[in-house]
Amino acid sequence: MQKGILTVLSGFSGAGKGTAMKRLMEKYEDYALSISATTRKPREGEVDGREYFFKETEEFEKMIAQDELIEYARYVNHYYGTPRSYVEEQLEKGKDVILEIEIQGALKVKEKFPDTLLVFVTPPSAEELRRRLIGRGTETMEVIEERLARAKEEARGIDCYDCLIINDDLETCVDELHAVIQNEKKKVMRN
Ligand code: 5GP
Repeated sequence: MQKGILTVLSGFSGAGKGTAMKRLMEKYEDYALSISATTRKPREGEVDGREYFFKETEEFEKMIAQDELIEYARYVNHYYGTPRSYVEEQLEKGKDVILEIEIQGALKVKEKFPDTLLVFVTPPSAEELRRRLIGRGTETMEVIEERLARAKEEARGIDCYDCLIINDDLETCVDELHAVIQNEKKKVMRN
C-alpha cells in the first residue's frame, strides 16, 4: 500500500491556520490531523485531546526523554511537540497526515522525513496579522507583542518552505492547500 503524504503547515500566529485546518477537515474528509502536546494553558473553548494534549512541564519532559515526540520546540515560553505514534500509524495506513507546527519543528520533521511537504500560510499584510491577533481576544497585549516579534523572526525562514499560501479568504486558502497536497501526492505516485 502507498504510504500517506506528510504535510507540515506553518504560519505566523494569527494567520488563521487553526481555522483553515478545521475547515479543511470538514470539506475534505481524507486527512488525518495530528494533535500536538503543549505546556501552554488551554484557551477558552479548547478541549484536552481535541486542540492539544495539555501537559505539565514535567510530563512533557518525560515524553521527550522517552522519545515519544517526532519533534518539539519552545515557542513563546512553552513547549510544543508532535506525538510520534499517531503520525506513524496513519502514514502506514496510507492516510495523508497534517502537522500544524512552527518553523523549528517543521525543519526537524523535514530532516527526519525528507519527503515532507512544507506549506507556509500568511495573512495578506503585517497590519492584518496584528488586527487578527488583537481581534481574537485570546492573548494579553504582552503575549501578542511576543508573538509578533516571533513572526518577524519566522519571516526569515520562509524560503525553506515548498509553498506559500496567502490567507485572504478562508475557502480559497483551504482549496489551495488541498490542491497543493493532492498535487504532491500525484508526484510521489509517479516516482
Ligand atoms: P498556539 O499557542 O497559537 O496554539 O501555537 C503557537 C505555535 O506553536 C503555532 O505556530 C503552532 O503552529 C505551533 N505548534 C503547535 N503545535 C506544535 C508542535 O507540535 N510542534 C511545534 N514545533 N510547534 C507547534
